Amino acid sequence: MMAQGFDYVIVGGGSAGCVLAARLSEDPAARVCLIEAGGRDTNPLIHVPVGFAKMTTGPLTWGLTTAPQKHANNREIPYAQARVLGGGSSINAEVFTRGHPSDYDRWAADEGAQGWAFKDVQPYFLRSEGNAILSGGWHGTDGPLAVSNGPDPNPTSRAFVQSCQELGMPYNPDFNGASQAGTGMYQTTTRNNRRCSAAVAYLHPVARQRPNLTVIVGGLVLRILFQGTRAIGVSYASAGRTRTIRAASEVIVTSGAIGSPKLMLLSGVGPAAHLQAHGIPVVADLPGVGQNLTDHFGIDIVAELHGHESLDKYNKPHRAAWAGLQYMLFRSGPVASNVVEGGAFWYADGPGSKPVPDLQFHFLCGAGAEAGVASVPKGSSGITLNSYTLRPKSRGSVTLRNADPAAAAVVDPNFLADPDDLRIGVEGVRISRDIFSQPSLRKYIKAIRFPDDTVRTQAGFEAYARQNGRTSYHPTGTCKMGTGAMAVLDPSLRVRGLDGIRICDSSAMPSLIGSNTNAPSIMIGERAADLIRGNR
Ligand SMILES: Cc1cc2nc3c(=O)[nH]c(=O)nc-3n(C[C@H](O)[C@H](O)[C@H](O)COP(=O)(O)OP(=O)(O)OC[C@H]3O[C@@H](n4cnc5c(N)ncnc54)[C@H](O)[C@@H]3O)c2cc1C
Repeated sequence: MMAQGFDYVIVGGGSAGCVLAARLSEDPAARVCLIEAGGRDTNPLIHVPVGFAKMTTGPLTWGLTTAPQKHANNREIPYAQARVLGGGSSINAEVFTRGHPSDYDRWAADEGAQGWAFKDVQPYFLRSEGNAILSGGWHGTDGPLAVSNGPDPNPTSRAFVQSCQELGMPYNPDFNGASQAGTGMYQTTTRNNRRCSAAVAYLHPVARQRPNLTVIVGGLVLRILFQGTRAIGVSYASAGRTRTIRAASEVIVTSGAIGSPKLMLLSGVGPAAHLQAHGIPVVADLPGVGQNLTDHFGIDIVAELHGHESLDKYNKPHRAAWAGLQYMLFRSGPVASNVVEGGAFWYADGPGSKPVPDLQFHFLCGAGAEAGVASVPKGSSGITLNSYTLRPKSRGSVTLRNADPAAAAVVDPNFLADPDDLRIGVEGVRISRDIFSQPSLRKYIKAIRFPDDTVRTQAGFEAYARQNGRTSYHPTGTCKMGTGAMAVLDPSLRVRGLDGIRICDSSAMPSLIGSNTNAPSIMIGERAADLIRGNR
């Protein structure tokens, strides 16, 4: 069969890929193809905010687990990554944060990512953001990515924010404003109580109208095709057949921080010895491909409530039916909740101990929402508080299990390899317990079940962290931009030593930023579009 031809082939229709497909196809002369391994985003759970709680496992994910975690009791931890149009932005918790300005200044000043200081990336954050409430220098109001306030916080979420204040944290109405520190309600990537994924924000409004944009779903890209050191297209599997697509201008890899390095390795780009061990001919020996994996290691505490104030009360079928009806008729009620309603950024060693917070907290007004997290006894209701070290020092890797594109990569985040990560993580658990002990939340709580009262000593808290911590879904850095031997990309996101190929997603981050990673991945897509079009 004749190969199809385009100017740009974008591999992976996730947060960054959807942005690039929309932006590059603005030029009617550019022929753009977006190819996504997962299906269309038709599952209704994607579009209702509460659906997050049902999607961290199952058909919209790749079903990954980590390699045994040496510093976490050798556990193989479930590792949710999206496999559907919209990628992470279709299944995530919709929390809208974008790190601290100093994260981007660090990329530029210390990590060789010239042109990515906060002053450089801020215009892209603003261009992407369509905030329904906040405006001014820190916020965009007209961008495609809708951002809004939760409609009606659960009573326990309100009590969480009050408890944080009782513990001494200031109330912060805007984690993306002048100061990150404090507690408040998260803004979410939602519009009119519906999820606003990157597919909803960027792709769907243009996909049907632009004859120069082709979207292929259910197409697993097997490898990038090279002529010498120039990328010329991709081969992909769909419905049992292998096909080829040509890229006259560029192949743009946006397969996420696990998918992008895996695809590069399968295509012969990576550490030569690793490729040779799997019988893959070496196109470019780039030692950094798949290395530098950095993720947030979230540690949850869970409390059982006296009553049923949290969302868990809707686990009963008749209540769930009412909630569903309320949402269908009025688009309100518990289905409009993203579950992770309240939050905080704070300091492991007390206020002022660091220039910026080193811990982030996510309050879930329910228990057992995410795969692999402890819950309360059946029939009772609970709440969960997750915290993580914002800038972990541990580094892991993504490597090939074998040369079969259908096989899962070996994902080893190497959680807690650095003792500082454990120390700060443990402080997060202690502060979480202190928050649950403040008057506003205490009145709802029957008992903190995880960790229970037997966990009291430093050793006990450390053991708890090793046994209960898990991914917070923020893998980054596996094809990092910058300078030095381990940098895979130059600051224009071009793969070093190759032509006609860039990697433009969360894997390009030189280091993990201090918050959730969806908005930053979308920012990378926005900036990449300008770099590719030569607007910068
Ligand atoms: C469960 C969960 C909850 C999260 N919660 C939040 C949150 O509340 N707030 C926040 O800011 N961030 C959150 N995140 C993180 C955020 O969503 C991600 O950082 C972001 O989506 C990453 O964007 P990306 O473009 O790099 O990759 P992705 O969005 O993961 O996109 C990669 C896409 O490429 C596809 N792909 C991979 N390999 C191939 C291949 N070989 N061929 C074809 N297609 C391929 C994948 O199927 C996927 O759709 C969460 C993530 C998850 C998984």
